[in-house]
Amino acid sequence: MNFIDRLPVKWGVPEAFDATRINLMREGVLTLVGIKRLESEALFVSSEGIGTLRETAKVEFAGKERYWWLARKYNGVLRRVLLAKLNVNNCTVDKPCVACEVCGLLGGLSTDNNKSLFSRLKVQDLISVQPYEYDEKFRVRLPDEPNANPTPFQEVIVPPGTEFPFIVRLIKPSQRDLMLFLHGNQLADGLGYGNYSKLRGNATTDWLLMANGFAHLSVYRLLSSEKSLAKQIEEFAQAAVGVTAEDVLTGDDLFEAINQLSTKFQSVDAQKETVQEE
Ligand SMILES: [Zn+2]
Repeated sequence: MNFIDRLPVKWGVPEAFDATRINLMREGVLTLVGIKRLESEALFVSSEGIGTLRETAKVEFAGKERYWWLARKYNGVLRRVLLAKLNVNNCTVDKPCVACEVCGLLGGLSTDNNKSLFSRLKVQDLISVQPYEYDEKFRVRLPDEPNANPTPFQEVIVPPGTEFPFIVRLIKPSQRDLMLFLHGNQLADGLGYGNYSKLRGNATTDWLLMANGFAHLSVYRLLSSEKSLAKQIEEFAQAAVGVTAEDVLTGDDLFEAINQLSTKFQSVDAQKETVQEE
């Protein structure tokens, strides 16, 4: 029995409309901390470049220039993946319906019916452990027509193996929310965060800690230290600030809790599908 078992099972869509006003202290929050690692090249463009050069975004942070992966971009991919997974119609990344389960979790603004929903999932911008390196790669785009000339272009990409501290907070959480987020994150990692077919930006996420409460961990603090992320998170778990020891899951306990949660909802979804087929 851990704090996940004590969360409400499902928040439900209609109630999600209460999410316009949220009191963090009263409604509860979960903090998830992990390491996201790129498994293939990625290009996180914050603005369209000029000419034939495409550059991934960078930011000066915690004493170094680093690769910068905007949370907004991550959220877009997560939303797209969840909408597809849950077969939601009439709701897109650009035009959220503000009535479905995905909007209930990720929020949205609809100008059609003047409704807005607060996002209960807060992702911090992803900023790399490894320093940014300007490494211009010369590449060639092959033309669609066989007789046309190939087009040369240059790219500055984020190399595979680059790691990012990944801190996510889930406000007013339910077991269903947590499962949707974890599952959506896994699918998005596999699909990749790339805008371009050849730069897929596949990733993996190693979850290291989940806390029932607003665990005071920040990307800045993690990146300012010389210690490894894993080491720092382990130390934090032993002397967590802002949460009590029973409210922190790490290691095998965390792994098992995540597995149990996903098995539980898989069986619920399987039952639903059987009912629909009958
Ligand atoms: Zn929606």
